[in-house]
Amino acid sequence: MHVWKFGGTSVGKPDRMQSIRHLVTADDTRKIVVLSALSGSTNALLAIGECLKDNTEAVAIAQIDALRAHYDAFIGELYATDAGQQAGKQVLDAEFSFIRSLTGIKPFTLKQEKELVAEGELLSTQLFQAYLEEEGVASALLPALEFMRIDADNGPEIAFTQQRLSEMLPNQADKQIIVTQGFICRNPRGEVDNLKRGGSDYTASLIGGAIRADEIQIWTDIDGMHNNDPRIVKDTHPVRELTFDEAAELAYFGAKILHPSTITPARMFGVPVRLKNTMEPSAPGTLIAERTGTFDSTAPVFKAVAAKDGITALYIHSSRMLNAYGFLRRIFEIFEKYKTPVDMLATSEVSVSVTIDNTDRIADITAELSTFCDLEEPDYDQTIICIVGNFSADNGGVAVRVFNAMQNIPIRMISYGGTESNLSMLVHSRYKADALNALNEGLFSA
Ligand code: ADP
Ligand code: ASP
Ligand code: MG
Repeated sequence: MHVWKFGGTSVGKPDRMQSIRHLVTADDTRKIVVLSALSGSTNALLAIGECLKDNTEAVAIAQIDALRAHYDAFIGELYATDAGQQAGKQVLDAEFSFIRSLTGIKPFTLKQEKELVAEGELLSTQLFQAYLEEEGVASALLPALEFMRIDADNGPEIAFTQQRLSEMLPNQADKQIIVTQGFICRNPRGEVDNLKRGGSDYTASLIGGAIRADEIQIWTDIDGMHNNDPRIVKDTHPVRELTFDEAAELAYFGAKILHPSTITPARMFGVPVRLKNTMEPSAPGTLIAERTGTFDSTAPVFKAVAAKDGITALYIHSSRMLNAYGFLRRIFEIFEKYKTPVDMLATSEVSVSVTIDNTDRIADITAELSTFCDLEEPDYDQTIICIVGNFSADNGGVAVRVFNAMQNIPIRMISYGGTESNLSMLVHSRYKADALNALNEGLFSA
């Protein structure tokens, strides 16, 4: 069985939804098809939520009307038959009546906001399922809220998903296509929750891992993982093969094509991931898998670059660190206590610099560190530039090429050697575009 995920642009227009119906039924492989919300819907729902939080209810209602009009036009083009139109209208009536019911709730809390934002995926999947029915495809809709759950730390409960799917899927044995929602899940309180923005990729990988799929395919609007951020750098090109480690680094460090956690479940269960372009289905895309004999052994040393914004650097000094053991443990226990992941790390004899991207608990962390360390002012608005490739110890000359390319850009921190596939640097975000372009020129141009 395969798991195929289609992102917002892939389902955002009626003709795109029609073309993915042909894509998913073009061969006999059974598929779980994970859909995002139609492009723009999640943002629109969040904007409605903001109005409801601010008590600007009239604005929210106008925005709901506009969204409904958008969906009315969508179903008008999607379905060819009266029965199809009726089915689509029923979906819209039910979901928009729920959305409107939220406008009366005061105060409008995070719980309601999560219910509201889940509507994007609830709408797209029901409309698609009704379309498959109109087209006579043997398909069923499996509600993600019945098998996707996160724990108290927002981590996925994959054993629960495994268990639930093993109960639910046998009931659909005669269906070629099983449709489900990306992004949405329940939390330990049983409330509707989600896997954070872009989370449909993660849903696909969690399902793919849970059912030990033969392959996970992420269909989007570009022909695979490019060697650099195509929104910032001209002349990027698709990378045909990446190892799980390489892809995980790129996703975590900012390659927007994949939610940061997507690769983890696929790697854990050894399920290959293929990135494909809905607009150009015959293009090969990118294959992400364990490095095996099928991988191209002549792959270049430098494969790709990504950038992650919103990083804060903390500078921690202590003369007691000199020749002492246990000092790093004390520091990291504090980050653990406040559930704040550290991304990058650099050490000297008496100092440690670390970067974090979640500053929610920075006041507690710095207060506690101050009891046994001196702290410099943190640097905010930093960007991690992550370079991925084959940097095994036998590959000389990696650092010199990177530093040559970066010669005009101030670098705040460097991390190299954590794995054989990553070299990361911290720069102020104002240098991000220059750094990505300089690396493209220095590492990838012939
Ligand atoms: P979807 O809605 O299908 O999930 P996203 O917008 O989340 O699509 O991801 C696809 C976009 O990611 C591309 O259109 C591209 O602009 C952006 N992107 C950023 N970095 C990369 C990269 N290294 N390779 C490919 N796409 C990237
Ligand atoms: N619809 C959600 C978002 O826009 C999830 C996704 O598209 O992956 O973030
Ligand atoms: Mg996405």
